[in-house]
Amino acid sequence: MTDRPLTLMAVHAHPDDEATGTGGVLARYAAEGIRTVLVTCTDGACGDGPGGAKPGEEGHDPAAVAAMRRQELEASCEILKVSHLEMLDYGDSGMMGWAANDAPGSFWKTPVDEAAARLAELMRQYRPDVVVTYDENGFYGHPDHIQANRITTRALELAGTAPKVYWTTAPRTMMARFGEVLRELGADWEEPDPEASEMPEIGLPDEEITTWVDATAFGGQKFDALAAHASQGENIFFLKMGKEKFTDLMGVETFLRVHDTTGAPLPETDLFAGLR
Ligand SMILES: [Zn+2]
Repeated sequence: MTDRPLTLMAVHAHPDDEATGTGGVLARYAAEGIRTVLVTCTDGACGDGPGGAKPGEEGHDPAAVAAMRRQELEASCEILKVSHLEMLDYGDSGMMGWAANDAPGSFWKTPVDEAAARLAELMRQYRPDVVVTYDENGFYGHPDHIQANRITTRALELAGTAPKVYWTTAPRTMMARFGEVLRELGADWEEPDPEASEMPEIGLPDEEITTWVDATAFGGQKFDALAAHASQGENIFFLKMGKEKFTDLMGVETFLRVHDTTGAPLPETDLFAGLR
């Protein structure tokens, strides 16, 4: 054992992704005395402005949106008891195909090696035992999420890899339940049709998921963290579920283990299995 606390590092694209994707594990591991480090890569300036104004619309001032989202992120970190928040502050690249993809300073346009060198520096500083980010499709094809995967993969090579590395994912059975809940709430949600859509299929068949972490006891914290990001339309949607339904649906967080030096048997129920 080392003299340094066990450390979880989560690398996310935008302010609010920490809550949706990993709010449960951040809260749970903080409660277990594990040091939690959140790296947020972009400023979120392409998010919704006051009153839901979209980029380019009246009332959407990207600098003001970034400032607001930073405050929301800090509030979320407080709720999730994140030990250290590190912001790389790249420009939000917007959705695939937006002009913001190629704007100066956008995360998507930043060379992978350049951003990875900064992340590797943070990895050398914190020496995480477990690193979590998105899969190669950025879970749902958002350029900043794809870029977060790329720079994390490269930074792990540069810094000397962490013992365990995970990609966030969702079981297909959960995606189906999610669709039901959205329809109940009155959203015009259609089951994504992978044949018809250019989007990569979201999530994995249940049997391919390596790691199921039960964070239902921390569902309230996860919900409150997401509520701290209430300026963003898609979050308001989650919040409409109410705490109970939200926890029921989102309380267990699932991951694909992509690197491991511990030999912990799969499937596992703890990101730190084999480390303590
Ligand atoms: Zn995001």
